[in-house]
Amino acid sequence: MKKLTELLESNRQWAEKISKEDPMFFETLAQQQAPEYLWIGCSDSRVPANEIVDMLPGELFVHRNVSNLVVHTDMNCMSVIQYAVEVLKVKHIMVVGHYGCGGVKAAIETEPHGMIDNWLRNIRNVYKKHRDLLSVWDHSHQQLDRLCELNVIEQACNVCDTTIVQQAWANEQELTVHGWIYGLDDGLVNDLEFNASDAEEVDDQYRLAISKIEILRKLAQGPEKETQTARSLWDKVRSIFN
Ligand SMILES: [Zn+2]
Repeated sequence: MKKLTELLESNRQWAEKISKEDPMFFETLAQQQAPEYLWIGCSDSRVPANEIVDMLPGELFVHRNVSNLVVHTDMNCMSVIQYAVEVLKVKHIMVVGHYGCGGVKAAIETEPHGMIDNWLRNIRNVYKKHRDLLSVWDHSHQQLDRLCELNVIEQACNVCDTTIVQQAWANEQELTVHGWIYGLDDGLVNDLEFNASDAEEVDDQYRLAISKIEILRKLAQGPEKETQTARSLWDKVRSIFN
């Protein structure tokens, strides 16, 4: 019988360390949770929600799945959003993708991956929707970067379109939906600047976010296209908009 002794020992030390800093920490937390944020991210082990934004237990409500998808028939994701919005009354929902996402990459590959292809079909639909925009990058890593970004924007829109968020906004509940993407190679979040705080804002925020990717397409046709990282490209886009 194999036991996870090392992990259990690490857990004991972790709990001890936190209790030393704040003896009431776990006791207080056990009474209730009042997070202000719902994080919808990828299951990838390199994208741990709390650590990335340096938050303690109790501060972030989290839902993760392969490639941070928000599918309206996914009762798991919908239930998380409902609980977060209606009971916890979170003020922010962030959809957080990441560059180099294996699910996004698999979605545009031609060989089959079995059952998961049904799930990845949702990303394939994002690819088909933006095929013209993405065509300039051919099959380079930059095309994958852009598809990861577009996937975040589409999923953030899907959050906005849920009956849960629509109802919250109709009730004038304070709630903003954001689109972020995380860089595995530098540990930094890139804000895709999709921030919708009411139903009327969604279309404008969507158009603005897509127009920034269209600028990235123009930059990709420039002379130094192969050397541009996602971060340097986005810095240029921001300088154009600011
Ligand atoms: Zn991923």
